[in-house]
Amino acid sequence: MSKTGYFTHRDCRKHEMGPGHPECPERLDAIDDRLLISGVGDALVRCEAPLASIDDMELAHGRMHVASLRGVTDTLRDDIEAGGPPYAQIDPDTAMNVDSWNAILRGAGAALAATDAVMAGEMENAFCAVRPPGHHACRDKAMGFCFINNVATAAKYALERHGLSRVAIVDFDVHHGNGTEDIVAGDGRILMVSFYQHPFYPHGGSQSDADNMVNVPVPAYSKGMVVRELIETLWMPRLEAHRPEMIFISAGFDAHREDDLGQLGLVEADYAWITERVKDVARRHGKGRIVSCLEGGYNLSALGRSVEAHLRVLAEV
Ligand SMILES: [Zn+2]
Repeated sequence: MSKTGYFTHRDCRKHEMGPGHPECPERLDAIDDRLLISGVGDALVRCEAPLASIDDMELAHGRMHVASLRGVTDTLRDDIEAGGPPYAQIDPDTAMNVDSWNAILRGAGAALAATDAVMAGEMENAFCAVRPPGHHACRDKAMGFCFINNVATAAKYALERHGLSRVAIVDFDVHHGNGTEDIVAGDGRILMVSFYQHPFYPHGGSQSDADNMVNVPVPAYSKGMVVRELIETLWMPRLEAHRPEMIFISAGFDAHREDDLGQLGLVEADYAWITERVKDVARRHGKGRIVSCLEGGYNLSALGRSVEAHLRVLAEV
C-alpha cells in the first residue's frame, strides 16, 4: 500500500463568492463526507495546510499580482466597515470576501507542503482538498474562480527549491487550464498534458504552439472511452518521453456526466483509470511522486464519488 497525504484546512471553507455560486464551501464537505462514509479517509495521512509564503507564490506569479490580491482584502475590510458590500468582484464569476486571502494562501501552501512531504519520502503521493481552485489563474491575472495557481506554483517550486530537472502537469478538468499554460508554456522542464471540452470557457486558451504543451480539445458530449483513447495516444508517449521526476495533477471533476458546468460524459471509473495511467508513469520515472490538487467539480455528489475513486487509486485502497 502506498502512503497518501490529504492536505486541507478549515480556512479553505471560509472563502465564498455569494449565494448560489457553484464554487462553494460545501464542495469540501461533500468530499470529506464521502471519504468518511467510504472509509477511504482512514487510509490517508491528514495534514494541515500551512500558509504559502509570498516568495514561493512569486515563483509563478508577478509581484504586483500577489500584492494586489492581498491589497483587495485590506480595502474590502475598510469598505465593509463603511457599509459597503461583502465581496470584491474580480470578474463576473470571481469574487473575494475577507477570508479569501487566507484560503488562497492555504491552497497554495497545501500544494507546497505536499511537495515537500513527497520529496522527503514521508509519503508517496498526496491530494490537496483545497479551494479556491487555481488552474485559470494566470501569471498576472485572477479569473474563473482562481487567484493563485496552486499546481503551477508547486511545479516551479519542485524545480527551483528541490532541484528537480523534469516535472509534468496533468490537467483533467473539463475547462482548459489557461492559467497554468500562461505560466509554464515554453518552460521545457515542465510538460503539461491536458484534455478539455472545446469550444468552451475560457475560450482561445488552446492556441499554444509551445513544445511543452500537449493540449487535447474534446467536443461536447464525448464519453470516457473517447477521452481514454486520446490520453493513450496523445498523452502517454509524451509523458514517457519526458520522464518526469514528479507529477502534479490539476484534478478537476467537472467533466463528470452529472456535472452541469461541463458537457462531457466521464464517470468515476474514468477518473480511476486516468489516475492509474498517471501513477504508472510516476512509478516508472519519479518514485511514484504525485501531488494532486482539487480544481473544479460542482455536482456535490459526483464530486465526492469522483474524488473517492481518484484517492482509491492513489492510496491503493
Ligand atoms: Zn473546471
